[in-house]
Amino acid sequence: MNILSQDIKYLQGVGPNRATLLANELNIKTIGDLLAYYPYKYVDRSRIYKISDISGSMPYVQLCGQIFSFDTVGEGRNKRLIAHFADGTGSIDLVWFQGIKYVAKTYDCRKSYIVFGKPSIFNGHIQIAHPEIEHAPANLKPQARTTGNLFEETSLNPNIQEGELDAQPTMFKGLCPSYNTSEKMKRSGLTSAGMAKLTANMFKLLKEPLAETLPPYIVQQHRLMSHDDAIRNIHYPTSPDALRHAQLRLKFEELFYVQLNILRYVKDRQLRYKGLIFNTIGDQFNGFFYHHLPFQLTEAQKRVIREIRADMKSGRQMNRLLQGDVGSGKTLVALMVALIAIDNGCQACIMAPTEILAEQHLATLRKFLGDMPVRVELLTGSVKGKRRTELFKDLVAGAVNILVGTHAVIEDNVLFHKLGLVVIDEQHRFGVAQRAKLWMKNSVPPHVLVMTATPIPRTLAMTLYGDLDVSIIDELPPGRKPIRTVHMFDAHRQRIYELMHRELSLGRQIYIVYPLIKETEPTEQRVPSNPFEWPSRDEGRRSQKMDLKDLEAGFEEISRAFPTYKVSKVHGKMKPADKDAEMQRFASHETHILVSTTVIEVGVNVPNASVMIIENAERFGLSQLHQLRGRVGRGADQSYCVLVTKHELGDTTRKRIQVMVDTTDGFVIAEQDLALRGPGDLEGTQQSGMAFDLKIANLARDGQILTLARQTAQAVITADPEERNPQNDILWRHLRELRKTNINWGAIS
Ligand code: ADP
Ligand code: MG
Repeated sequence: MNILSQDIKYLQGVGPNRATLLANELNIKTIGDLLAYYPYKYVDRSRIYKISDISGSMPYVQLCGQIFSFDTVGEGRNKRLIAHFADGTGSIDLVWFQGIKYVAKTYDCRKSYIVFGKPSIFNGHIQIAHPEIEHAPANLKPQARTTGNLFEETSLNPNIQEGELDAQPTMFKGLCPSYNTSEKMKRSGLTSAGMAKLTANMFKLLKEPLAETLPPYIVQQHRLMSHDDAIRNIHYPTSPDALRHAQLRLKFEELFYVQLNILRYVKDRQLRYKGLIFNTIGDQFNGFFYHHLPFQLTEAQKRVIREIRADMKSGRQMNRLLQGDVGSGKTLVALMVALIAIDNGCQACIMAPTEILAEQHLATLRKFLGDMPVRVELLTGSVKGKRRTELFKDLVAGAVNILVGTHAVIEDNVLFHKLGLVVIDEQHRFGVAQRAKLWMKNSVPPHVLVMTATPIPRTLAMTLYGDLDVSIIDELPPGRKPIRTVHMFDAHRQRIYELMHRELSLGRQIYIVYPLIKETEPTEQRVPSNPFEWPSRDEGRRSQKMDLKDLEAGFEEISRAFPTYKVSKVHGKMKPADKDAEMQRFASHETHILVSTTVIEVGVNVPNASVMIIENAERFGLSQLHQLRGRVGRGADQSYCVLVTKHELGDTTRKRIQVMVDTTDGFVIAEQDLALRGPGDLEGTQQSGMAFDLKIANLARDGQILTLARQTAQAVITADPEERNPQNDILWRHLRELRKTNINWGAIS
C-alpha cells in the first residue's frame, strides 16, 4: 500500500484519540493529508540574541542564559510566576500565568536554557510571557553564538494570529515551522510544536522520494524544485532560499491543477456542445437601435455587444461574464443581445436575484421596447394559478419572446419553445453546475451571459469564473456626476441631518442603511459582507439570529427628526409582499426616506435618490459598500454617500473606509478588498464550483504565478487535446486523484 494513504492513527505520536481530533479539526486522516498540511509561517531559530540587543517590539527572539530566581506574585486570577533570566549582557523576566507549579518544578536555577518567545513591555520592563524553554546543549554557552540573521519570520499568511505559545519545543534548528491548530487540539498537546513533532516523525518514515506530480518538461521549463524537495522544504526549510523555491513550486503546482481542471472542462464543453448560430441582425435589433434607443450607446457598451455578437455567430456556445460597474448600463446590453436572439428565431430569458429586481427589469425592458412587437413576461414565485399556466403555455408555444424572472425560471417544468439566450444578472451563487442545468432547456444549449456589478479582480475571475470569457464595461454613461463620499463619526449627526434637510427640500430622496447584527455576538463583530449571496433569501434565513435594534431605533429617530417627511422601513424579516410594497412606495416617491437593511443592496434603481447614508459602515465589506453606494448617483444631480462609523477604528477598517472615500472605481475597490481581506473571506468560493480552499497560493498576491499556471495549462491542452502524449500521463492521473478528493472539482463536469 502507498504510504501516503496510510491511516494517520499509526503514525508515531498519534494514536486513536489524536487521530479523531486531527480528522475532525483539520480533516487530516492519512499521512498524505498531514504532508499537505503546510505550516503557515516559519520562525527563525538560527540566531541567539543578546538580551542587551532586544526590544519590546521585536517579533520572536531566542535567548540563551540562566534562570537566577523564581518569584510568585499576585493573587487569584492575577497570580503569576516570574523567572529572572540573564545572559551576561542583561536580564529580563519570563512570566507564566498558567502551569505555574509545573514550570517551577521543571526548571532549575543556575542551569542554562534556550528560551524562545515574543518580547513585550510591562511596567517599563521587557518580559516574555509563556516562553518556550529547553535545556541548552552543552556546547552552547550563553552568548556563544550570534550568527547572522536569516529572515526573522516568513509568514505565509499574514492574517493568522501570531503568538501561539508551545510547550515541548523542538528548538534550535534554523527555520522552524509553525502550524495552525485549534483550541481543542492544543488541549491534547497538538500545539504547533506538537504538530511539528508529528511532521518530523512523518518524514522519518518517508525515506523514499515522493513521486513527482508534474511532467519533467514542465518542471524544467519553469525551473521548478522537485515535488519531493518542495514538500520537505515547505515543512523543514534547509535555507530561506530553499523555502522560497519550495513555496513557488507548490503554489505553481496548486494553481496549475486548478487551471488544468477548468480549461479541460472548457475544452470538453466546446467539443460536446455546438452553439446556436445567430447570423442575422434583423428587424427587432435594428428597429430598436434606430427608432427606440433613447440615448447613444457608450463606446464600452458597443464594444461589449460586438464581443457578444462574435460569440453568438461562432458556432460555439457562448459562456461570457460581463463585468460592469453599477450604473454602467448592463440591462440595455442584455436587452439588445436578447433582440439578436429573437431575430434568429429564439427566445431569451433574464434571471434576477430577487422578485423586486425581476419586476424592475420587466418594467425597464417594457419601457425601452415601447410599442415594439416583442412580448416580455414575468415569472416569479408570486405568479400563480391561471396566470402561471397560461404563461407556461405561451412559453412553449414561443409566444413569449423574453422571460424575466427569479430562479423560478430554471425549474424543470418551465419549458421553452426555443431558448437561445440566458442572461444571469447578479447571481454569483450560480455556479457552473447550475448553469449547466440551464443548457438542458434546449436541444442545443443556449448562449449564457453572466452579468455582475461586483467587480472581480482578475486573479479571482480566472479562478472563480475561469471557464467564462470576460467582457468589461469600463465606462459610465455620460453626464453622471461622481458621487461624493464622506466619512463621518456618530458625533457628526447634526451635520448629516443638515445635508439630509437640504437634499429633501430639493425634492431628493434618501437611503439609510443599517447592518444586521448577530444577537449572540458582541457588537464589535463585523457582519462579513458576502456579495455572493442572494440577499433576499439569505437575509430571511439569517434573520432568525439577527438583531434589528439599530434599524428600529434609527427609524424612530429619523421619523421624529423629519416630521414633515414620510419614512419607509424595509428589512428581511418582513413578508416579501410587505417589503415589496414598501419598496414600491419609495420608488414612486410616496415616501422620502428609506430606512433599511441591505435588502436594497443589489440593483434597485431609484434615480431620484441622491443620498446614501450607511450606518456602522465599519461593519460592511468593501464590495458591499460599493454596491450600496451604487444605489445613488443614477440621475444627473450631485449625489452623496455618507459613511458613518464609531470613533475608534482598527487600522484595516480605517484603510477600507479611506478606499471608499478616495475612489468610486469598482475595480480598484475590488483589488483593495482582496488585498486587505484576502480571498478566503471574499467569495462564496464553494458555490462557484471552481475554486476551493487553496492550501498555499494566495490569489491576492500570487497573480503572476497564477498567470503562468494558466498559460502552462492552456498550452498543455492546446498541444495535447486528446490526451495522448505519454509525457502528460502523469498530469491526467494526478488530476483524477485531485478530483476524487476535492468535491468541488468534480462538480464542474
Ligand atoms: P447596471 O449596469 O448597474 O445594471 P443599468 O442597466 O441599471 O446599470 O443602467 C443604469 C442607468 O443608465 C439606467 O437608467 C439606464 O437607462 C441608463 N443608461 C444605460 N445606458 C446608457 C447610455 N448609453 N446613455 C445614457 N444612459 C444609459
Ligand atoms: Mg443591473
